[in-house]
Amino acid sequence: MGMTAAETLKRYFGYDSFRGGQKQAVEALLAGKDLLCVMPTGAGKSLCYQIPALMLEGITLVVSPLISLMKDQVSALVSAGIPAAFLNSSLSFAQYQKALANLRVGKYKIIYVAPERLMLPEFLSLCVQLRISLVAVDEAHCISQWGQDFRPDYLKISDFVAQLPSRPVLGAFTATATPQVAQDIENRLKLEAPVVVRTGFDRPNLFFSVQMPDRKDAALLRFVEEHPDQSGIVYCATRKSVEQVSDLLTFHGYSVTRYHAGLTQEERKKNQEDFSFDRVSIVVATNAFGMGIDKSNVSWVLHYNMPKSLEAYYQEAGRAGRDGEPAECVLLYSPQDVVIAKRLIEMPGENEELSEEDRAIVREADYQKLYRMTDYATGTGCLRAAILRYFGEKDVPPRCGNCSNCLGQYEAVDITTQAQMILSCVYRSGQRYGAGVITDLLRGIRKPRYEEQRLTFLSTFGLMKEAPAHEIRLMISALLAQNLLCQSEGQYPVLRLTHASEAVLRGEKQVSMKKPQKAGKEKSAGKKARKQPAPETLESPAALDLFSALRQLRFRIATTENVPAYIVFSDATLRDMASRQPRTPDEMLLISGVGRMKMEKYGELFLREIAAFAGREQTGSAPED
Ligand code: ADP
Ligand code: MG
Repeated sequence: MGMTAAETLKRYFGYDSFRGGQKQAVEALLAGKDLLCVMPTGAGKSLCYQIPALMLEGITLVVSPLISLMKDQVSALVSAGIPAAFLNSSLSFAQYQKALANLRVGKYKIIYVAPERLMLPEFLSLCVQLRISLVAVDEAHCISQWGQDFRPDYLKISDFVAQLPSRPVLGAFTATATPQVAQDIENRLKLEAPVVVRTGFDRPNLFFSVQMPDRKDAALLRFVEEHPDQSGIVYCATRKSVEQVSDLLTFHGYSVTRYHAGLTQEERKKNQEDFSFDRVSIVVATNAFGMGIDKSNVSWVLHYNMPKSLEAYYQEAGRAGRDGEPAECVLLYSPQDVVIAKRLIEMPGENEELSEEDRAIVREADYQKLYRMTDYATGTGCLRAAILRYFGEKDVPPRCGNCSNCLGQYEAVDITTQAQMILSCVYRSGQRYGAGVITDLLRGIRKPRYEEQRLTFLSTFGLMKEAPAHEIRLMISALLAQNLLCQSEGQYPVLRLTHASEAVLRGEKQVSMKKPQKAGKEKSAGKKARKQPAPETLESPAALDLFSALRQLRFRIATTENVPAYIVFSDATLRDMASRQPRTPDEMLLISGVGRMKMEKYGELFLREIAAFAGREQTGSAPED
């Protein structure tokens, strides 16, 4: 006690200064004010409640949705010398009783709980006897159906708080806050006149790109080939494609693991750890993978399929570059992705625990989000600006200069004539068919069914014989994105004209669309992307060698202690060590990310490694002197 927030930050976490928004958030909670904190992934929300937790008297309770997330956060706290624990279903009965007993005698400063535990009688009766000064709700968007991870158990939080003898301060933290979600969080947690801390959503170190390759497999292989030795995540829409893509990468000799809800719990755990612990460099996964992973050195996230919403996309893509290093977020788009996404939205049983009414709201919201996501994938404007505007950011610069659209990695091609052919084919076939049939008809594909329905006699039949199917599909999706066509909902969506279609058919409106560039050009553009200035780069080859030596040391320690490597030290911390090469414990404490506890635990080992390296350098360069 008696330490300032800045001192607490340095002592426990080893950081010299707060990042944007953190100070405000910490101050609000310390002043006893409720807080709604909206910051993008990687901004450092955890510290916003962990610092007050250390400074306030009593206990801080953190509500967190996922077991793996709690576990890593608690390991990180314990390794920083902070007494913390989690209570969830992964504990055995004996472990759980032990944790409760410790809690009773005031052994912990911070405890993490799963929301379903809050209203259990045993837990509740304990909590009313404790002094709970702060309740922090992490991933607070889980409380809203408008967020993409609705968890009904989150609705219990305010009931729980109401049961406590004195009301603790409440802090809600999320990376996903469209205005609707923010409102839901405020209402449902019953926040009282909360201080709202909302930092910009921009993540300047992320490079965004969209590709529309003819063959996604080839595009993926090219991408991973260009990113050797980097840690990355490939997101796929379905379990089946996770299997296929991970087989493909394995076949080509990459070090890969996979993750989806169809695997056993043990296998999921093992695979996630293999990735977290840097035992494999690539994980291929469905969206089941991620909320529980705080790995800081993910250099790229590639979406093999377009996700269902920009929230989901930004959250998943945002798992790249948490350490602030330049990282790439790539989306491989094809019109088929829209079909897959719709199928997922319509899938029954996805939200079993919801009422029919809630389900209808969720579904409608899902469709709206999908359309916005499609606009992102097919649009020609700045990708970063599109994301930031979606999150309600004001004064967004129209061009960021750091995304594939800004770098002009596409051509805007005039497709007025083709658009007329497509629209007139839709019209002449009676606005009764989906994109697949329309594409077939334009290409002049004969099927018995088409003959029977006399579709082969249409004047538009075979008008686009030369065009490959995927190109027509891309044009159709561009027309959809520009609202020149619309599509009915449901499993067999039917294309129809819109008000705006007429002007095109009459030749009064030009249509253009973005066309992906060929492989060679993409390649050079990719290189350009990686030349983005890095916040902290290692200048000399010697520093780079030391960096890898330190990484190896970290890997050995992490393996012995059975924790993810980044919990020992982050890449950013090792990089700082490698370039500043501290010689004494005091110098070591100046490194960003080295707090007292870490210094005590690992300082000696790392100092020795650095000294040994300096020695080798000297003898190595002696003959030249
Ligand atoms: P979020 O929950 O917002 O996604 P985290 O709390 O997991 O982000 O923090 C992301 C990373 O940033 C972590 O590695 C954390 O240690 C680091 N970090 C947080 N605050 C600071 C700071 N003030 N200075 C340096 N690094 C920080
Ligand atoms: Mg977090």
